Amino acid sequence: MSIAASAAPPSLSYELYPPVNRAASESIFKSIEALESTDPDYVSVTYSGTHTRRRASLDLIEHLIQNTRLRPLAHLTCVGESKQSLENLIRHFISLGVRGVLALRGDLPTDPDGWRGEFPFARYLIELIREVETDHSAALAGGRLGVGVAAYPIQHPESPSFDHDVEVLLGKERSGANYAITQVYFRPEEYTNLVIAARKAGVSIPIIPGVIPLSSPKRFDRLASMVGVAPDPLLAHALETASSDAERHKIGVNAAANLAQRAFDDGAPGVHLYTFNDHRGSLDVIEKLELPRTRALANNMWAERAAV
Ligand code: FAD
Repeated sequence: MSIAASAAPPSLSYELYPPVNRAASESIFKSIEALESTDPDYVSVTYSGTHTRRRASLDLIEHLIQNTRLRPLAHLTCVGESKQSLENLIRHFISLGVRGVLALRGDLPTDPDGWRGEFPFARYLIELIREVETDHSAALAGGRLGVGVAAYPIQHPESPSFDHDVEVLLGKERSGANYAITQVYFRPEEYTNLVIAARKAGVSIPIIPGVIPLSSPKRFDRLASMVGVAPDPLLAHALETASSDAERHKIGVNAAANLAQRAFDDGAPGVHLYTFNDHRGSLDVIEKLELPRTRALANNMWAERAAV
């Protein structure tokens, strides 16, 4: 079974991490400005950790809405939240003007006695979002929120099997998810296998590959332990033995661009770039991919008309 190619132009999105100190804030504002120039369809804002980190996510979303042309996709996680607090957050997002939510279970607390929250799985959060949005259908002009979910090219660390992950993805679609974004992966066939298995199981929503340009071996190891995905040994070796930062950057960009291109060749509907708030890698990947950007084309068309 092959993956059907889409007639629509590929989507482009970036993932941002809320800044928690002044230096990080300054750097993220620069990244936002640089990424805005590529006209992404949306930028996603992660949500996790302490109260301060979560607050920083909400502040970043507000900044994006008020001060940029970017459309935020708000990540929302069940861990450490009650049903009521999740409901409040969904209502808050709607009132801010957020129209897309990535519904996640979230990373479990490292403290085994830490409260996991009222919802054990992302599915319940999707159902809550669908419930709350009906209350707001006037504000949403009768429309709905776009609800995304996580998908796993490599077995989720808590899952008994890859097939179980696919069943969970199907359950999330049945609960109301509109699309999925994958966890990071390093071999092209991992994305393709996931999509083929998902389609076979009955999953019909778009599955967007999540790709990360990695240029630092240290960051590679940190990422691997954070998401439970073993680093690709060839890429790890190339990064470790590279003789300069410029060479490491080139290796990381080429690997990410190759991964995204292979996913497109296999029918991927778009690409989601994990930026780690370092825009240079993502911009270089985009340049290599030469994606058609319809919004940019439309803007140019209107600009040309206005000039006549
Ligand atoms: P779920 O789909 O609920 O799955 C969690 C686990 O439970 C899986 O092992 C699954 O197999 C199992 N499971 C689900 N349903 C059932 C069921 N009915 N019965 C038995 N087992 C079940 N984390 C953050 O904290 N903040 C973020 O901002 C964030 N952003 C992310 C963005 C993307 C694109 C991705 C891919 C991941 C992100 N994560 C984030 C990580 C994510 O929260 C973790 O991977 C988390 O461990 C699982 O989340 P989930 O939404 O996939 O959970």
